[in-house]
Amino acid sequence: MEKTVVIAGGGWGGCAAACSARRAGARAVLLERTDMLLGTGLVGGIMQNNGRLAAALEMEALGAGELFALTDRCARHRNVSFPSHAHATLYDVGLVPGEVLRHLRSLGVEVVFQARVSGVEREGDCLQAVLCSDGRRFPADAFVDATGTAGPMANCQRYGNGCAMCVLRCPSFGGRVSLTGLCGVAEWVGEKAGGGPGAMSGSCKLHKGSLSRALQEKLERDGVAVIPLPPPLREDHLAQKACQQYAQASYRDNLVLLDTGHAKLMTPTFPLEKLRQVPGFENARYEDPYAGGKGNSLRFFAMAPRDDALRVEGVENLYCAGEKAGLLVGHTEAIVTGTLAGHNAARQLAGRPPLVLPRALAVGEAIAYVREQMATGEGRRKKYTFSGSVLWERLGQLGLGSVDCGEIAERVARTGLTGVFAE
Ligand SMILES: Cc1cc2nc3c(=O)[nH]c(=O)nc-3n(C[C@H](O)[C@H](O)[C@H](O)COP(=O)(O)OP(=O)(O)OC[C@H]3O[C@@H](n4cnc5c(N)ncnc54)[C@H](O)[C@@H]3O)c2cc1C
Repeated sequence: MEKTVVIAGGGWGGCAAACSARRAGARAVLLERTDMLLGTGLVGGIMQNNGRLAAALEMEALGAGELFALTDRCARHRNVSFPSHAHATLYDVGLVPGEVLRHLRSLGVEVVFQARVSGVEREGDCLQAVLCSDGRRFPADAFVDATGTAGPMANCQRYGNGCAMCVLRCPSFGGRVSLTGLCGVAEWVGEKAGGGPGAMSGSCKLHKGSLSRALQEKLERDGVAVIPLPPPLREDHLAQKACQQYAQASYRDNLVLLDTGHAKLMTPTFPLEKLRQVPGFENARYEDPYAGGKGNSLRFFAMAPRDDALRVEGVENLYCAGEKAGLLVGHTEAIVTGTLAGHNAARQLAGRPPLVLPRALAVGEAIAYVREQMATGEGRRKKYTFSGSVLWERLGQLGLGSVDCGEIAERVARTGLTGVFAE
């Protein structure tokens, strides 16, 4: 009989884990608390900027290029540059969730919506089953915690400016519950650069149709618009941001807009009355979060202590993916860790030792480096992404920053792991 991997959380981390567990021969059951896949990815869209392209190319060579190819097919714009970021692809947030759902189902992944994990059955160090808040029970042989680190409302209330009414829709579906936490494992908490738990999500989405015709046309044509702000209208949110790669003066001194279907405004929050004083924004309104003029979702609470195979410490058959696996920000980062977590869960069921990605690869270095940094107070105040800031700088210093396809394929070949995720 096919052995089963249950994945809790249908963000990019959980979707990638489900794909790779299935590809590695397991039955994959993906439980999502809401009625849509992709979690925070529903309001994201930026791929391939800076080193994210290198990570995606490595994953392709490792045999796990399918979700990257899918976002590429759903791109509204390619090869876009914006402050300090080059060759970005912007996926269409309206198209991607449906495409991912169809892709998962075509692989045979069982996707269950409105399945909010809220309890566990454990025997010794092994997890036996997860229980949902409506009483459903899902037994399995191995599990992946991909429940993310955003919210729930009590955290946004306590450490932010209250529930900002974001796409995660906690009031309707119930807030995030951590599978690792339910197992009694003590979790890591990230900190803001200026101190205090969590970090505020770094972008808001404006209703594109509420902007001036000229701005809409520029966004549709170029994918990006950078509008200088006069000093009295500037807002300084840089120290609060979850996305350290955008915590730069150019994101304070300008309104940086990207076309992902929404007009993605690269700041955590911006008072609406002030925004409407900027030419072209006279009728602006928020699409996500609805209260973007006041606040945004808070993230990076509850990360799992884990090893480099992404196994959660203290539970034999539990792996972690996405933001759960550490202070790694981004869809690309979540797909990387999700792929490894799902693959290793399936390997465990096949009686094979787990795969650890070597540090000779950017993806292996990222997973190991973030684990090391999480153990330090200073490290927990930073965020890590292939697209900028500390991790991207480190990869450059280690000679892992190239985005040359051939060079990356050779680098992967030298590790002997070409196609490993497609086995
Ligand atoms: C506003 C915003 C914009 C962003 N823009 C970008 C961008 O443009 N590019 C980029 O690369 N990154 C972006 N990011 C970051 C990126 O979205 C995340 O780092 C990444 O997608 C996290 O994926 P995840 O799967 O770990 O978590 P999440 O996306 O948080 O997904 C977790 C999922 O688990 C579900 N869940 C939680 N608890 C339970 C439970 N108990 N049972 C079942 N399901 C549960 C949630 O409903 C959710 O669907 C953005 C983030 C935000 C908030």
